[in-house]
Amino acid sequence: TQSCIEAIDKAGALNAFVHKTPEIALEQAKAADARIAAGDAPAMCGLPVGIKDLFCTKGVPSQAASAILEGFKPEYESTITSKLFDAGSVMLGKLNMDEFAMGSSNETSVYGNAVNPWRREGSDADLTPGGSSGGSAAAVAADLCLAATGTDTGGSIRQPAAFTGTVGIKPTYGRCSRWGVVAFASSLDQAGPMTKSVRDAAIMLEAMCGHDEKDSTSADLAVPNFEAMLTGDIKGKKIGIPKEYRMDGMPAEIEKLWENGQAMLKDAGAEIVDISLPHTKYALPAYYVIAPAEASSNLARYDGVRFGHRATLEAGDGITEMYEKSRAEGFGHEVQRRVMVGTYVLSAGFYDAYYNRARRVRALIKKDFDDVFAAGVDAILTPATPSAAFGLGEMTDADPVQMYLNDVFTVTVNLAGLPGISVPTGVDSQGLPLGLQLIGRPWEEGDLLNTAYALE
Ligand code: GLN
Repeated sequence: TQSCIEAIDKAGALNAFVHKTPEIALEQAKAADARIAAGDAPAMCGLPVGIKDLFCTKGVPSQAASAILEGFKPEYESTITSKLFDAGSVMLGKLNMDEFAMGSSNETSVYGNAVNPWRREGSDADLTPGGSSGGSAAAVAADLCLAATGTDTGGSIRQPAAFTGTVGIKPTYGRCSRWGVVAFASSLDQAGPMTKSVRDAAIMLEAMCGHDEKDSTSADLAVPNFEAMLTGDIKGKKIGIPKEYRMDGMPAEIEKLWENGQAMLKDAGAEIVDISLPHTKYALPAYYVIAPAEASSNLARYDGVRFGHRATLEAGDGITEMYEKSRAEGFGHEVQRRVMVGTYVLSAGFYDAYYNRARRVRALIKKDFDDVFAAGVDAILTPATPSAAFGLGEMTDADPVQMYLNDVFTVTVNLAGLPGISVPTGVDSQGLPLGLQLIGRPWEEGDLLNTAYALE
């Protein structure tokens, strides 16, 4: 814990930690020592971790990287952080992210972006660690903590993991409690671990998941011992390669990475089969209707009254001006764009044309996966991202759709509620890490982790 605290202090330039909690960490570390001495040491005992700023942590600033939550210190602990603390974890602080988890580069954060510890060979230009869990990915990759929590609504664990050479798993929707996690799009949001290795991910996921009566969508299922399932034996497993993920203009390096991954799984005894997920091309547009729709509703609670920022009012301003000014000042541009898009697609005149249509597309995407799994496929292998980490500022001023295209391989998994993992499997010609994604059957994270273990 002490060495992580020192490493964090030295790595200020990465801007990964946005609130440091060394006093809490040292106190928790002492308690962990006592548990270890008493012979009661759960799996995470004494392990220093970072917590994404989206998780409510009692008495500790929890701002979702937004100005609108300025000064917000929750009175309660999220279920996930409580579970991690019960399992002996030590909290080093809160990690940078895109505002309200909306983004793919960390550049929408009110704290400014986190920086990827990786750089292109021979270049000193800063790169994005990805988003939205970019602070988590940067912190794990730079050894500022042993592991971190992330959340994934459309790829926010898997894309930053791929950009930083770390492992990130988004569990099945309902596996981890959302209680105390600031809501973005409630039907898509899931928390998960971001770690150095598949084994660490298995250990940390077990500590994070489980039924919670405070989240009605949390599944009442036993939590397996995921680590015990890491045998490395994948003989006879059927791995599907979806032809729709072979996008036009896919960089040759990504293509090569994907082929290498197939070869590795084949060598380990798996059978590689070609599959089709025909509705894949509608996933991104459906996601960018559903996610903003849910966000516009979830973010209605930031009204300048109950939480955080309230604008200074002028004489004659009424409650409407208070709402308008507080929200205009408190929300950044991307968040405002999502609220506007969401409000529009939910409005009476357009609800059927956009929101309902997107929901129907979502059902078809889920059915594509159901059909493939019913035909005996155990897991699906795809690239995690269309490219390696890109430069900071490279996409911010461009068309927002360019940024959204980063999620092309990951959003399908959230729409279908499935578990997905990103595993570092290579580097590009400039020495930057690249990741492959494995998608598993619902509730079979253990199996998925084991397949990922064979790829590692
Ligand atoms: N990049 C996606 C978005 O901006 C995904 C974000 C996420 O998974 N939280 O919505």
